[in-house]
Amino acid sequence: MVTRLEAPRRITLLGATGSVGRSCLQVIEDNPGRFEIEAVAGGRDIAALARTALKFGAKFAAIADPAAYGALKSALAGAAIEVAAGPEALLEAARRPADLVVSAIVGAVGLAPTFAAIEAGRAIALANKETLVCAGDAVMREAARRGAMLLPLDSEHNAIFQAIAGRPIGEITRMTITASGGPFREWTAERIAGATREQALAHPKWKMGPKISIDSASLMNKGLELIEAHHLFQIAPERLAVVVHPQSIVHGLIAFRDGSTLAGLASPDMRTPVAHCLAYPERIDSGVAAPNLAALGRLTFEPPDLERFPALALAMAALAEGQGAPTVLNAANEIAVAAFLEGRIAFGAIPGLVARTLEGARAAGEAPTPVNVELALDIHHAAMRRAQLLLG
Ligand code: MG
Repeated sequence: MVTRLEAPRRITLLGATGSVGRSCLQVIEDNPGRFEIEAVAGGRDIAALARTALKFGAKFAAIADPAAYGALKSALAGAAIEVAAGPEALLEAARRPADLVVSAIVGAVGLAPTFAAIEAGRAIALANKETLVCAGDAVMREAARRGAMLLPLDSEHNAIFQAIAGRPIGEITRMTITASGGPFREWTAERIAGATREQALAHPKWKMGPKISIDSASLMNKGLELIEAHHLFQIAPERLAVVVHPQSIVHGLIAFRDGSTLAGLASPDMRTPVAHCLAYPERIDSGVAAPNLAALGRLTFEPPDLERFPALALAMAALAEGQGAPTVLNAANEIAVAAFLEGRIAFGAIPGLVARTLEGARAAGEAPTPVNVELALDIHHAAMRRAQLLLG
């Protein structure tokens, strides 16, 4: 046995009760003595948050829903855990002293707490892609100013980050993220348009929360990931590409100017990028075995079909357009996905609602460049209202 002389790494987990949060807790549990939990924050699931805070000995537990304060407080009665609720509580959790803040809250509500952690100079493991889609320039500028390290926790970006290994982005001619193609990869456009909630949630390769599962079915997730990659790696949109790879073993590829391509491979399990981020730059056990290529037999690749998956085309156009277009796209998509999950619109209506929101926002001058987080959130909320109106 090797005795570790270093103190355990202190982790704050924003989004502790979601899918990525649970993967983090699993890796932490599987590496006893390596990590301590400073703070946990969750959205609505009081019981899961309380259980996690107790089990991992958190100092602070925050719940986004202000009405949940009393229930969380009584669930943690007798424990030496500070309890807080509401949006301010998430910011407080983000600012607490920690070696690494995991940003895994779903949607643009994750932006403010992530930004607060960056302002506090914390190292961030970023799973919340909406933070960069909504306010990428402002977030990256602040991270550079504060010297806050951003580790990509999204599996594709994590694979690419590992492949880059510190080389200058100017040496990279093409950066490719892979898409599994989702549950509708082989469906006709007509069949996709009428897909049910259950069909859209049944992702063939990844077990994820509902929002990202729907985004993966429409391929909007891949579009958001292109925008995320543009900001994270400061790479020009025209050097970014998507390739469909149904086996989800290769997660990202970078081609260098000399013709070399480096790819990141891993089994499709979030514990691998989680372990990479939590222990960075060291390597720890994730509980996931490396892919066995001979057993897999074949890995296939195909171009994405932008006609059957217009959400990806919309996101690519928003990335190329720049200014506030990605912010509006993301906000409209959040409304459209929620409406689909509530049974208010058809799956095939998601891209249309996003497109009409973009057109309306542009015409009304409500898609300016989000030069700071406040403006990004203003654009986001205005686009949400516009998409709600269009929903009727
Ligand atoms: Mg991803």
